Amino acid sequence: MMTSHDKLFDEAGRLAALARYDILDTPAEGAFDKITQLVRTLLGVPMSAVSLVDANRQWFKSHPGLNIAQTPRDVAFCDHSIRGHSPMIVPDARQDARFRNNILVTGDPGIVSYAGVPLQTPDGYNIGSLCAIDTRPRAFDPGQIEILQSLAAIVVEQMELRRIADRDFLSGALSRRAFIGEMDKAIALFDRRKRPASLLLLDIDHFKRINDSHGHPVGDRTIQGVAELCTLLKRPSDSLGRIGGEEFALLLPETGEDDALHAAQRFCEAIARLEIEHDRPIHVTASFGVAAIGAGRLHSDSWLAAADAALYGAKRGGRNRVMLSPLVSVHAA
Ligand code: GH3
Ligand code: MG
Ligand code: MG
Repeated sequence: MMTSHDKLFDEAGRLAALARYDILDTPAEGAFDKITQLVRTLLGVPMSAVSLVDANRQWFKSHPGLNIAQTPRDVAFCDHSIRGHSPMIVPDARQDARFRNNILVTGDPGIVSYAGVPLQTPDGYNIGSLCAIDTRPRAFDPGQIEILQSLAAIVVEQMELRRIADRDFLSGALSRRAFIGEMDKAIALFDRRKRPASLLLLDIDHFKRINDSHGHPVGDRTIQGVAELCTLLKRPSDSLGRIGGEEFALLLPETGEDDALHAAQRFCEAIARLEIEHDRPIHVTASFGVAAIGAGRLHSDSWLAAADAALYGAKRGGRNRVMLSPLVSVHAA
């Protein structure tokens, strides 16, 4: 078994742990800003940050007083904080060989003192740090470091809550609410810059029969199996959401009608080949409705309704198939 010491050297595991939070490049959130404000007040520093250390950069989820959103990893103080399990304290960076020539010290924002506590995930990976930064040399007293440690633990708890709230527990797919949030982003991108996007809605065929003949837990495993397969097949930029009981949706950004139809066809065929482990392997099929974004679909409800109409057509047409809800081209009068 890997110890927490080993995990300090498991960079691939660390990056995977960070990726699970799906937090890089997301907008500011009040919960994190409140914590960094507390750091500023309680430690009496002008700057504080929740820094997440990605492969080649540190990115700040919150950074009051600090006028930059990210830096290259090689100049990040926080990249030093994550190499151990205890707080890292730099009373005067100008006297410290590691940081003396660092551009964040010699140039903007002129870091002189620093205290950082690693953000350690429940499974033991340091994904970033909560830090306090000052532009003058200073000592941090033990009480202040203890506060910083408690607040760092709260940052991780907040990240955990954020991760769970957006996910469906059974399938790991986005919750309906979070998925609609992703649709809203795609609608805004289409509004502003005419970027295409497509929606795939799928419903497992004759699912009641699986519950009835094998029991609810096997039904649950089937739902999980379909979700896993979709996660494996989709592109990293695509979103998978659980819209209802055995109904999922895929959002394909930058994808028009034709490519979306092909993608749906691929998903449909893969599901039909899937084997759910049981006494004898269980096979399922699913029906798909496809709708590209366009006129008359500029709200998540109407866009979903278009895909749902096509899905209904696929069910009526015999199931285990894909139907398109074609975009009606609108000509200006
Ligand atoms: P169709 O091909 O028309 O979609 O037939 P169907 O049997 O799949 O019909 P329908 O979609 O109406 O029924 C879905 C069933 O899925 C009803 C519900 O009892 C079951 N179900 C919903 N959520 C869950 C769940 O989380 N776990 C399990 N095991 N079953 C669920
Ligand atoms: Mg259904
Ligand atoms: Mg069904």
